[in-house]
Amino acid sequence: MCPSPSRPASSETKRQPVRVVACPTCGKPVKWAPESRWRPFCCERCKLIDLGEWLSDPDEKET
Ligand SMILES: [Zn+2]
Repeated sequence: MCPSPSRPASSETKRQPVRVVACPTCGKPVKWAPESRWRPFCCERCKLIDLGEWLSDPDEKET
């Protein structure tokens, strides 16, 4: 007989709290769910803004 720590198999479904992340562009809370199609951004616009900033090199040293 081996006394294994048998945990009571809970039949209840674990409720996962909806994860919320902050939009990298505007900081708005974004639900990390399939319905948030622009996650981690709150909307398409924020995603485009972020992409735009990434594409435009802030280090312009051309004179
Ligand atoms: Zn946003």
